[in-house]
Amino acid sequence: MRARRNAYPECCEYCGVAVGRDADGNARPGYRYADGRAICAGCHASAIKTAEQLRAVWQQVARTFERLGLTVDWHRLPVQMLDKPVLQREAGRGNVVGLAHSLSTALTVSSRVSILYGMPATLAALTLGHEAGHVWCREQRVRFDPPEREEGFANVLACLVLRDLPGADARHAIERLFADPDPVYGKLFRDQWALLQQLGWEAYREQVRNANQGAWRMRWFGSRQTAACLPRPGGVSRMCG
Ligand SMILES: [Zn+2]
Ligand SMILES: [Zn+2]
Repeated sequence: MRARRNAYPECCEYCGVAVGRDADGNARPGYRYADGRAICAGCHASAIKTAEQLRAVWQQVARTFERLGLTVDWHRLPVQMLDKPVLQREAGRGNVVGLAHSLSTALTVSSRVSILYGMPATLAALTLGHEAGHVWCREQRVRFDPPEREEGFANVLACLVLRDLPGADARHAIERLFADPDPVYGKLFRDQWALLQQLGWEAYREQVRNANQGAWRMRWFGSRQTAACLPRPGGVSRMCG
């Protein structure tokens, strides 16, 4: 999917600034993706659109996971970018920015990750960190109870990925994660984060690994699971005229 010059006055999907023309009629550079999203020139400058860019973000995520002692079978984990309608169709619902599909049998787990094409690099890193968190849970046979808690855990990993990135964009994304009013992606994230602060990383990781296996294990075999995720923090301002 290509981005083309945007000729319509509207808001950037990612930061909310005017794109096309602002309320005073001034030209504001930006683009529109083929799936209808408007994106300002600033966000577009870091947008992840090529396989090479995607690989670079994925490697950042893998480095953070390695530092944290989280093993994921990266070499057998396909990652693809999809435009909005295709991702929504795969997810079965709208406004999704990432998906982790896993098929678990008694002996193997195979997963694949899909994210939305053309997101700014920081949001792509957050999304991939989050989805990689779901993949780790499947590969470790971890299942949270209730399942929504896994979204909070996945956002803890997304936050830790962002903390390894330099720059103001990553810091702002972390601030939005902590301020997110969403009952799952915000509240359950902050609950998990508080537990992490209390226990320290290693003890927290082991608690997640051990506390959420056991009784769930038998149900897990032969199961197929898709996590359709909306780990986008905050809510973008739509007040751009
Ligand atoms: Zn923007
Ligand atoms: Zn998720």
